[in-house]
Amino acid sequence: MAKTARGDRQKTKRLLPGKLFWLAIAATSCMVFALLHILFGSVSADALTATTGVDKSVELTTSIANVSPMDFDVPTSFQAKTIKDAPVPAGEKVIALTFDDGPWPETTEKVLAALKKENVKATFYMIGQPLKSFPELGKKVLADGHVIANHTLHHWYKQMSPLVAQREIEDTQQIIRDILKVETAYFRPPGGLLTNGLVAYAQKKGQSVNMWSVDSNDSHPKRPSPEAMLKTILAQATPGGIVLMHDGGGNHDNTAKAVPQIIIKLREQGYKFVTVPELLEISSANAEKVAKAAVLGVGS
Ligand SMILES: [Zn+2]
Repeated sequence: MAKTARGDRQKTKRLLPGKLFWLAIAATSCMVFALLHILFGSVSADALTATTGVDKSVELTTSIANVSPMDFDVPTSFQAKTIKDAPVPAGEKVIALTFDDGPWPETTEKVLAALKKENVKATFYMIGQPLKSFPELGKKVLADGHVIANHTLHHWYKQMSPLVAQREIEDTQQIIRDILKVETAYFRPPGGLLTNGLVAYAQKKGQSVNMWSVDSNDSHPKRPSPEAMLKTILAQATPGGIVLMHDGGGNHDNTAKAVPQIIIKLREQGYKFVTVPELLEISSANAEKVAKAAVLGVGS
């Protein structure tokens, strides 16, 4: 009996290393696959079972990029920051035109036509509600190469709970995602109000909060004339500036009429037009250069 038991134990000992080896291989494979699945979702399965001869690591990265792209990303140094303009290097005379409260029937298309004629790209802070009502106009803005940004769902000025603020921004993100198939990390609070809960949420999410340094005053109830708008903008324009205008939220015919002259006159002064993400790229590249120069003692 004792001999049999010892014999069984010995047999078990002989078998164990082999069995354990395969069990360990199986368990490890399962864990690795499960981990990849958690990290990359079902994409990993496709990528991992792709035909041989393909560099799977490259394919995996590409697949991930296709799943969740951040089309309008924010440079690291500007994430979760509120800006009204951005410092740019001397000689880099750039300025960003921005349009709020659209998309809007008639005005948006007129603004788009003027921008296209002058070959200028701008940044559009869209409200979720009109984008839902006029999806084709929103698509036209994107198709023309402009930047899409978030301007909340209802354009409320009131104080908001964290939950309401979250819904105002996230519901708009979802409408932008559904209709335009893009992700944006650019946000402008309605009325430029900084303390009603919206900016706190946008910053928590690492978004870039964009105020303005040049106010065209085009949302004034007594709509200023295109000439008056042009005068106001020329008086306030600076390199690295952000110009506030409106293509939605009422009749903004005067804005659409003013756009060509605004572009022509600013160009005469040497300005180049950039989108807000481009402005931040230029500014952050310059900041890195300045920081590096400071570390190296260059210029001191
Ligand atoms: Zn607005």
